[in-house]
Amino acid sequence: MPLVGAKCPIYKKNIRFEQCLKCAIDNNSPCSFPYSYLKASSVLMGSSRPDIHVTDLTGCLRRAYFSKVTNYYEEPSRWMAAVLGILIHSGLEKFAPPNSDIELSLSAITLSGIRVVGRIDLLVNTIIRDTKSKRWLMPEKLPTKENERQINIYAWLLSKNGYVATAGVLEYLALGGATRCRKCNCLIDWNKEKNKWVCPECKKTWGKDKAHRGAHQEYIELYNMDLIETWVDEKASVLDNALKTGAIAPKIDTDGEWLCDYCAFIDECKAFDSLSQGRVNDE
Ligand code: SF4
Ligand code: SF4
Repeated sequence: MPLVGAKCPIYKKNIRFEQCLKCAIDNNSPCSFPYSYLKASSVLMGSSRPDIHVTDLTGCLRRAYFSKVTNYYEEPSRWMAAVLGILIHSGLEKFAPPNSDIELSLSAITLSGIRVVGRIDLLVNTIIRDTKSKRWLMPEKLPTKENERQINIYAWLLSKNGYVATAGVLEYLALGGATRCRKCNCLIDWNKEKNKWVCPECKKTWGKDKAHRGAHQEYIELYNMDLIETWVDEKASVLDNALKTGAIAPKIDTDGEWLCDYCAFIDECKAFDSLSQGRVNDE
């Protein structure tokens, strides 16, 4: 079950998309979000995803479970990164390099017979290229584990569908622009000799992974395909079992806990934890 509407920041209640869009037209969006943004969000994020997607497996399985069994609401500000990300992707695909395969919607069956689906945006000469837009880039923290796994599962999907993938490239775009010197506020330059970023004014330097000029690339080597297949199967089996039996899927591990700050199901997740804790205490 999908996102069905807005946790309205003005009327302080859950409002379904139909009424929210009507409000945007009739009342000129008291929240200031444009009608087109609300409409795009309702279309892009408001459709149910009953299949098991690659991105369900790379993030929190419990979140993926909730998103498939619950109708939910979120504050419109929460959709910004996802909606802009999807729009940027679909816009850039129109300008893909010559001879590339774009928008490959593929599926494959895991070792336990579970269907996994995914969409590879761009395959150029056996290299999977995936664009990620972020407000601020911190190259030293890239690639994220989730992004790296996503590329690897895409490689597995491609191999199951007769394509060859030999590596991946994550292409990060900084929506907040290039790194600036905090003191001089100017754009910094790459200095080949020093192998460092340098402020042209005050000459302060930054290490290679501490700054960028608005974009950053990470080359991703692929894992052994059998390992990927086993990993995909384990994750897909847990989620599939949760969806079939109602046994709630496990939480994300500690290094992915930052996701909880952006999760629409934090209340349900905490309620489930308290319930399980109660059960343990009763035993
Ligand atoms: S348009 Fe804005 S103010 Fe109106 S219901 Fe939707 S979120 Fe709330
Ligand atoms: S709150 Fe965190 S652990 Fe719980 S479902 Fe959301 S992302 Fe997963």
